[in-house]
Amino acid sequence: MKPTTDVRRRLPAVDTLLSHPDVQQARERHGWRLTRQAVRQTLDDERARLARSAGAVSYTPHAPLDHDGLAARCLACLEALARPQCRALFNLTGTVIHTNMGRSPLAEAAIEAMVRAARHPIALEYDLENGERGERDRLVETLLCELTGAEAATVVNNNAGAVVLALGALGAGREAVISRGELIEIGGAFRLPDIMQAAGCRLREVGATNRTHARDVQAAMNEATGLILKAHTSNYAISGFTHSVAEHELAAIAHAHGVPLMVDLGSGALIDFSRLGLPYENQPRDSIAAGADVVTFSGDKLLGGPQAGIIVGKRELIAAIKRHPLKRALRLDKLTLAALEATLRLYRDSDAPERDIPTLAMLTRSEAAIAATGRRVLAPTTTLLADIEVTLEPCMSQLGSGSLPVDRLPSRALVWRPVTPDRRHQARTLKRLERAFRQLPRPVIGRLKDGALWLDLRCLNGADAEATFIGQLDALKAAFDRQASAPEASAGDPS
Ligand SMILES: *Cc1c(COP(=O)(O)O)cnc(C)c1O
Repeated sequence: MKPTTDVRRRLPAVDTLLSHPDVQQARERHGWRLTRQAVRQTLDDERARLARSAGAVSYTPHAPLDHDGLAARCLACLEALARPQCRALFNLTGTVIHTNMGRSPLAEAAIEAMVRAARHPIALEYDLENGERGERDRLVETLLCELTGAEAATVVNNNAGAVVLALGALGAGREAVISRGELIEIGGAFRLPDIMQAAGCRLREVGATNRTHARDVQAAMNEATGLILKAHTSNYAISGFTHSVAEHELAAIAHAHGVPLMVDLGSGALIDFSRLGLPYENQPRDSIAAGADVVTFSGDKLLGGPQAGIIVGKRELIAAIKRHPLKRALRLDKLTLAALEATLRLYRDSDAPERDIPTLAMLTRSEAAIAATGRRVLAPTTTLLADIEVTLEPCMSQLGSGSLPVDRLPSRALVWRPVTPDRRHQARTLKRLERAFRQLPRPVIGRLKDGALWLDLRCLNGADAEATFIGQLDALKAAFDRQASAPEASAGDPS
């Protein structure tokens, strides 16, 4: 009475499944190693499945094993193994600059620059003028100075790195004065108090959470003060009875005591956002003009470039930052530098950066344009799936990554709502739908809200994107129906 072993013995050998004509054909495309791995995995899964179903009532010990079915499963496994982890998806969450989805897509010019730098040697640390060894920051320093009004600039891996480095170089072993209203946590373990400690600064908190006055800062200044730090409260807003000290006041206090004012801006908007019809966002140029000595910001937030931490400011302070040993540990690679240079050039040279830089293009997309996309993608979806009603509804996008935390941009969403009468069934249908979207060749990520899946169309931008989205609807239906007929398939869901 051991039928389980019986059936599992009847699984084909690895070589048998490998020589199945369909598998042979796939092997030509994917190569020997990957195909063998897929065969092994398929047989392992099948063995485990048979062991599980051995106890089930539906079990029939002598049902013949279907080699074509196994081969088909093997091909699906092979496709999954061959698909890169790092693949394009549609971010329709409504958060335009989404840290979990790589923040800013790059401008075409930046992509071309990266490809060039990837393919050929470049003058990374080589001065073509004099034929000598040069400094890699030189590729972007002049542009950054032009765009921010600063005397000097340097760049590192990301803004968190920029903050640690600048604090370490300017304030290690001394006190860093900061308002209690600005002790921010950005998420992903970036907490300003911890960062300051890691950099070797002693935290000197002043004021209260909602109100800090110039006299509070003034009273904290002493022999041990190394710098004043102002942090942009980027992912929340304190409203109501509030007061914070303006940068020019902080600069005056800092300079009277012979120490620098450092500003961590977070988002680095390099153009006037109000000119684009968006809420005004502080620019590095404003902080420099207000007297800040060092300003740090990200390359991949509102700037719309690659991940980078940018530090601009006074010449001698930037020189000290460049000399710090951590600078070498945090330096940028050539691909990122190439992309950053190309992006910065667009800010300096393009007649319309808001057209050429995708992040700005998405943020400035008009409601009318989004609604037009909505009508085009709505038409083929309305009768696509059983039990799901699809409508076009107004929604609000947010900028994301801690930029302008309270501002929202009016947009349109494709809303997928299960319409079966049973509540529990609705919830299951919604889960199935959400999973089916994630399983597409180009996964679609939306947001679950009010018993529906909302796809904010602000970031479905351009004819190609629309065509790809519509082109996948058949695959969506297949994935959705497949899950309905085989709910146990979810056990192998890689997500
Ligand atoms: C986002 C942000 C950071 C961290 O920047 P990364 O580029 O994510 O490392 C630091 N400070 C502020 C104020 C921020 O908004």
